[in-house]
Amino acid sequence: MGKYSGVSCKLCNLADNLTYFKSSLLCKQCILDLKGNVGVSPVPVPAAKEPTHKENKGIRPSSQQMVESLRKLMREHPKAKQGEYVKWLGVSQGRISQLKKLL
Ligand SMILES: [Zn+2]
Repeated sequence: MGKYSGVSCKLCNLADNLTYFKSSLLCKQCILDLKGNVGVSPVPVPAAKEPTHKENKGIRPSSQQMVESLRKLMREHPKAKQGEYVKWLGVSQGRISQLKKLL
């Protein structure tokens, strides 16, 4: 190694961010490490709690839309069979009866 200008961290020999610490020339990182060892425990960051979405109604916007469509169909075709609503709305039988409960 050639002659440095003499300034490098005593611990890791880096020449960046040098500071005198307790009369030794150290880089910032090593000083932080040293200070960390002296007992300043890092404060644990409280985990951000995500709000839990609980929908009591259980009606998602899409369901709401389907209900609207079904209601409209039932108004326009009051005598149609459930199978026809199924066809028109393009959903399953079970879905239709589910939607009917929401009407
Ligand atoms: Zn260092």
